[in-house]
Amino acid sequence: MGRFHRHDDHDHGDHPGHDHGDHSGYATGRRRIEILEDIFAENDHLAAHNRAAFDAAGVRAINLMSSPGAGKTTLLQRTLAALQGRLRVGVVEGDIETDLDAERLAGLGAQVALLNTGAGFGGECHLDAPMVARALADLDLTTLDLVLIENVGNLVCPAEFDVGEHRRAMVFSITEGEDKPLKYPVMFRAVEAVAVNKIDLAPYLDFDRALFLRNLRQVNPTVTVFELSARTGEGVAAWVDWVAGPDAAVGPADQGLGS
Ligand code: MG
Repeated sequence: MGRFHRHDDHDHGDHPGHDHGDHSGYATGRRRIEILEDIFAENDHLAAHNRAAFDAAGVRAINLMSSPGAGKTTLLQRTLAALQGRLRVGVVEGDIETDLDAERLAGLGAQVALLNTGAGFGGECHLDAPMVARALADLDLTTLDLVLIENVGNLVCPAEFDVGEHRRAMVFSITEGEDKPLKYPVMFRAVEAVAVNKIDLAPYLDFDRALFLRNLRQVNPTVTVFELSARTGEGVAAWVDWVAGPDAAVGPADQGLGS
């Protein structure tokens, strides 16, 4: 069962496998809105708490989102490998079920905190700030420079929840089609950077790169774009530099990451 959504800014069409939960208890207009406002207020309060904890430890936090199968974990593997010896990295690994992704990240030098949203949270389609607050208890922020938060694979819900990150990015796979920025504008608008993944598959697809970039710029004119292949490693270095940040070597004194 899913939980609560800001239904004013997304529709439920073209969204297979996503259970929006039982809203029947909140069907009475004003009361439902009040409850939703309470939930988002609680989330935003804890997001600020998480962000303060990151700031106090001099940690940069990035919330990484995408649809399922776009390549978040594969790109994270590449990213962690590239940052070994350069930055001390923690990962919050969000999945509805299984530790399969957390397993894939083992041995790459990062502290990994696994969050399965299927148990105790009702199979959430996103991470929220209270969940990330719980995961942070498993990370020693004082020994880290960077925390990468792999959100649950979903192009709708994760964009609606601030979890306390400083930067938001998404991985988009060219197998998803050029129209996705127009169909999921809330997500594409919520991020500062898009990693356009699986470019090694371009020869086998009819993906119209120029059209995709045009659609992307239409909903997010200032977004930073990285075209890469997490599988082959092509183009990943520029992405890694963005993830590391311009002030990657700066310690706890730096407070300039808040947005
Ligand atoms: Mg994954």
